[in-house]
Amino acid sequence: MQTQQRVALVTGGGAGMGEATAQRLARDGLAVAVLDINQENARQVAAAITASGGRALACSADISERAQVDNAIATIHAQLGPISVLVNNAGIEDFTPFTEISDDNWQRQIGVNLTGNYYVTQAVVPDMIAQQWGRIINISSFGAQVGAPNMVHYTAAKGGIIAMTRSLAQELGRQGITVNAVAPGFIDTPMAQRTIAAAKLGENIDAVLASYPIPRLGRPEEVAAATAFFASEEAGYITAQLLGVNGGTAV
Ligand code: NAP
Repeated sequence: MQTQQRVALVTGGGAGMGEATAQRLARDGLAVAVLDINQENARQVAAAITASGGRALACSADISERAQVDNAIATIHAQLGPISVLVNNAGIEDFTPFTEISDDNWQRQIGVNLTGNYYVTQAVVPDMIAQQWGRIINISSFGAQVGAPNMVHYTAAKGGIIAMTRSLAQELGRQGITVNAVAPGFIDTPMAQRTIAAAKLGENIDAVLASYPIPRLGRPEEVAAATAFFASEEAGYITAQLLGVNGGTAV
């Protein structure tokens, strides 16, 4: 039986699904490092966890910057201990027609949504190998499964996440480490609200949602529940999987 409290790291833990996941993992008994580019949001989420009797640490880093990632992981290590659960959740969206995507825009999307996960995962995996136990959960997107207009750069990165998940699962399985991905559909977070505005869905949002088998936006807590399952002790024989949390929308 596990006696020492496990430590989880949730990137993008300051808002939306990351916040819900950090809170869920804390309720499940883990110490949680809340990492976000937005320091104040990370601080507030960590403070809320601590106020509810949990153990949390806020750290700020842009995951697309390796030095910032390495500093943050060293701090987590020193203050909470070795990391055994990693939720690669931080991400950014953008809507630009393909012919208008600039090199900077492309690099930023890939830099945060794909390379950022590589930096964080590479910094954390040695802890998991040392423990011969680990859970990595990568947050991809429904858009990578079905495609999304004006989001070629975003979906390319999110598709890369799925391939990374499967390859890493094969590489790390013998070390007691599982690697799975969650593909959220339309989840009610600050990002989704920006998406609704940017895609000018406005009044059409009800029609879009009505076309889903479960005709509503998903809740951040519902994605957190799927992630928490992959993070659990019981999920030790489940790896290289992609779980859609999307209201049943066909893929
Ligand atoms: P959100 O509401 O925008 O929250 C994401 C958090 O990550 C924010 O606190 C954000 O800070 C932070 N962040 C952004 N860039 C970062 C970076 N470079 N380094 C560290 N932290 C960073 O997003 P969400 O909707 O919860 O999305 C969570 C994940 O799910 C993302 O990977 C997203 O692509 C994916 N997803 C979302 C949906 C959806 O419908 N919401 C659907 C499919 C997939 P700032 O706010 O300061 O940028």
